[in-house]
Amino acid sequence: MRAAFMYGAGDVRVETVPDPILNQPTDAIVRIVRACVCGSDLHPFHDMPAGAVGTPMGHEFLGVVEEVGSEVRTLAPGDFVIAPFAWSDGTCDFCREGLQTSCRHGGFWAGNGIGGGQAEAIRVPQADGTLVKIPAGVDAALYPSLLTLSDVYGTGYHAAVRGRVTARTTVTVIGDGAVGLMAVLSARQLGAERIILMGRHTSRTDLGREFGATDVVAARGEEGIALVRELTGGDGTHVVLEAVGHLPAYEQAVGVVRAGGVISRVGVPQYEQAPVGFGSLFGPNVTLTGGPAPVRAYIDRLLPGVLDGSVQPGKVFDRTVSLSETPEGYRLMDSREALKVLIAP
Ligand SMILES: [Zn+2]
Repeated sequence: MRAAFMYGAGDVRVETVPDPILNQPTDAIVRIVRACVCGSDLHPFHDMPAGAVGTPMGHEFLGVVEEVGSEVRTLAPGDFVIAPFAWSDGTCDFCREGLQTSCRHGGFWAGNGIGGGQAEAIRVPQADGTLVKIPAGVDAALYPSLLTLSDVYGTGYHAAVRGRVTARTTVTVIGDGAVGLMAVLSARQLGAERIILMGRHTSRTDLGREFGATDVVAARGEEGIALVRELTGGDGTHVVLEAVGHLPAYEQAVGVVRAGGVISRVGVPQYEQAPVGFGSLFGPNVTLTGGPAPVRAYIDRLLPGVLDGSVQPGKVFDRTVSLSETPEGYRLMDSREALKVLIAP
């Protein structure tokens, strides 16, 4: 089969490798129908040291089950499935608590002998716990929206859940990438009526308005903070959903959060040190939360709205490439020519 590998910053190659085979009785082999490039794939695309061995890439996919191990109970060849960006057994205490990203027998794609989603096929560990079956015969026009349940929609939703968004909270979303826009959509779904989106790309913030943003602030840093404060009577918003991951975005979050409020981060932090002292979090009693989203926990809740078309998170995909064009997909996202790139193998 063909699969994408990263050999270093800016160096993504599609190569022919052996087909994946069952390894554990709890595995399934899935033929990939749709995959995509994630904003978080751009971090190694910028700074991964060059190496002789390629790293498999991709952690979002829809596919068809081809083969199951002897202990797989809930899936059969031919089933159409969504894969969350982390695999999990579905039975341990963390999974039962809805924190599948901390599963005692779980892990992440594209490492430790597990392939990536930017490929023609993949071995899925803990298939019963990981994969979510979609009704057979679903319209292919829904594939992009279904694919967002692998990561970005569940991640935006997790940000809003962790931020404790309700009808009574005002919200700022930092970042107009796919996750930021999904955070807007999710905050709206959880009832927020005032949602300020901080982003600079008009085509993206326009989609953000469609998803529920009531205000857009294009400025960043101190200027952006001042504008959000101005929009909120000087106070800032109850909730800040940070969907970027760089330190300036965190500092912006600290700058626009209301006293007693919550900063919920889902952008993968590219820093280890940040202000948490009296002047930032402690003085105003601000809660800092967030982390990798247990998207598996949200798929059952979010799937019906996708299937009936009442939400269309798939609008974040604005380009489609073939698997062999995956390197071009990275380039398009990196240059901001594309918001999110769909891969149709
Ligand atoms: Zn588990």
